[in-house]
Parts: sequence; C-alpha cells; structure tokens
Amino acid sequence: MKGLVLEAQWDPKPDYQVSEWEERTRKAITGNSVWRHPKLAVQERPVPKIKPDEVLLEVKACGVCGSDVHFYETDEQDYILYPGLTRFPAILGHEFSAKVVEVGKEVTDLKVGDPVTVEEMIWCGHCTPCRNGFPNHCVNLEEIGFTIDGAFANYIAVGAKYCWKVDGILERFGEEKGYEVAALTEPTSVSYNAMFTRAGGFKPGAYVAVFGAGPIGLAAIGLAEAAGAGMIAAFEVSPQRRDLAKQVGAEHVYDPREVAPHEVLMDLSKGEGFDFFVEAAGAPHLTIPEMEQALAINGKIVQIGRAAQRVPMYLETLQVRRSQVYGAQGHSGHANFPSVIRMVASGRLDLSSIITARYTLDEAVQAIARSTERRDGKIIIRPN
Ligand SMILES: [Zn+2]
Ligand SMILES: [Zn+2]
Repeated sequence: MKGLVLEAQWDPKPDYQVSEWEERTRKAITGNSVWRHPKLAVQERPVPKIKPDEVLLEVKACGVCGSDVHFYETDEQDYILYPGLTRFPAILGHEFSAKVVEVGKEVTDLKVGDPVTVEEMIWCGHCTPCRNGFPNHCVNLEEIGFTIDGAFANYIAVGAKYCWKVDGILERFGEEKGYEVAALTEPTSVSYNAMFTRAGGFKPGAYVAVFGAGPIGLAAIGLAEAAGAGMIAAFEVSPQRRDLAKQVGAEHVYDPREVAPHEVLMDLSKGEGFDFFVEAAGAPHLTIPEMEQALAINGKIVQIGRAAQRVPMYLETLQVRRSQVYGAQGHSGHANFPSVIRMVASGRLDLSSIITARYTLDEAVQAIARSTERRDGKIIIRPN
C-alpha cells in the first residue's frame, strides 16, 4: 500500500533539554525544538497486521489538519513548526473515516463492512489520568499521525475501542459524501470537547464570538448555532473562510485587521458584552486582549488554538466580570464523539460545506502545500 510519510532528523535545539523519557521513547514532547529537515513523500509501505483487539480499516477520507501543515512548514533553521508530541518517521493523517475490512479475534462490536471514524488519541486506559476519567490527558499517549502511523494511507490498523460507527451519517449523506462528512468528526469533537465538556457550554440565547474560522473555528460556529446561540460573531483574516463562517451560522463576520473586535462586540451586544468566546485562531496574544474587553458578566473564554507564547491578561477583569478562562485539549471520552455523530446524523449539524477541496493519495503532498495558503475550509484526501 501507499502512505504519506514524514521523515525528519532528531536534532534537539542547543537550548532544549531532552528528557530521559524522550531519549528512551524517541517521542519529542516539544516537536518544534527537536525535529529538523522534514521531508514529506508518498512511499510504498506494507499493509499493517492487526492485533487481536484491533481492526484493519480501508481509509475512505482523511482531512488535512493545521498540524499537518505545521509539519511541512519550518522555521529559519529548518525545524518543524508543530510544538507538540511527535515521533518520526510516521505516516501522517488523523481526521478520517474508513470501512472495516478485517477484525481481530477479540473484537466483538465491529464487523467487516462497518463504516467508522476513529479517535486520534490512543489513550492507554491504565495511567492515573485515564483511570480518573481524563483520557485527553493520558501520560502514555500515542497519537495517530503524530507518534504512530496515520491515515493518509490505503489502510490503517487501530484498536477497536477507538472506533465509532458512522452508519447514521452515511444514511443521511449517502456513501460518497457521507465518508467525507464523517471525516470531520475528529476536529468537530475537539471543538465540542472544549465548548461543552470543558467549559460547560452556554445557555440558549447566549452571544458567542469565535476568533479564527479555520476548520476548528468553523466547527465551533456550527456547534454554537446548533446549540441555540442568540447571536454568533466571527473574526477571520481569510475572505474565503469568512464566507464559510457565514454559511455555517455566523451572522456577523469581520476581518480582525479592519475593525477593533472588542468595539464591534460591545456594539453588537449594546454594551452588555459577549457570553462565550472561542479562541481558534492560535493567536491568543492578539485575541485574548480583545475578548477580555468584551466579556459579559459570567463570560467564558475557551482556549483551543495552540500557541507557544505567553499572553498578557488583566485578571481583575475576570473578577469584575465574574468570568472564566478554560483550557481544553483533545476529543476523547465524555461522550464527545458519539454526541457529534448524533448531531450530524440527525441533520442538526451540517458542516459539509466546509469541505472545499479533494485530492487523491498520490497528490497528498500537493494537498498539504495548498493548505499552507490557509484559505480553504477543510481539504480532504481520498486514498481509496
Ligand atoms: Zn487535527
Ligand atoms: Zn493513559
């Protein structure tokens, strides 16, 4: 089979302290301080063999994520930009849907032919955070397409317990489009986990502001709309993405370089402020100060975008506005995946319009190169 493989050189920056754990596992905790000279190519690989508790999946659709782009783009010393957990070489790709083609002998709840989507986070289930119910904070985490082989490939082997059936989504959208829509479950579950599981959501009628309308921000807008927001405002620099933001439910959309977002939000809310903010721009040094100045009483700020930088914040604001900032990562557990699948299967959440380009596996490098332009919604690779 073929797979899109990222190779890179283990060459820690002089000021980066490599831990004993990183040395032993060859997993870098801060990828952008360790992996240098990345090379991306479609290579011939053996079809993976499954363990008794695994299934073999034929990949139908796999989305290109911002993190895939951060493996491809480098700094001036040719280190990757992605700041998270990584081990290379690995096949990339982690936002996918697939058909089950083989089941291990211990697998009881999946059968050949089942359509599924898969969690990206391979939580161990036996560390203390996992046992306490926090799989997104597993200390033995492996990540599909980051530390182990991913789904920009014809086939992938995964544990059955990380799969969720998406037959309801295929029934609504048909098989062709259904698999593409099902591949949006992972990034949508990241937004769902942050907004509803971590931050506890908002009351119907709340004013919601989303900063950044890439796929995570677009999913946040769609979820806010489905959850009954009273008004949704979005800020995004790309005109194409601003159009998509409108299509999925934002009625007020701005280029943050052309307005002062906090003034816009205070005007829209007639001075009351916004109740719920989503940071999906990965530029918190610019966005958080704007949110801070437009916080309603009891306002919530949810940080989803990743950025390796400190942010100035006047904590007095949180006291006076009785407000809260929530940090969130991941998508596993807490009924995140099945809830998103239900919303999509029922038609209450339809993000299909955010898919703006499709590529074959042979064209995967071009697909990622195109993503660096940051004007598409979601780019999908169809390996089979
Ligand atoms: Zn992703
Ligand atoms: Zn664990």
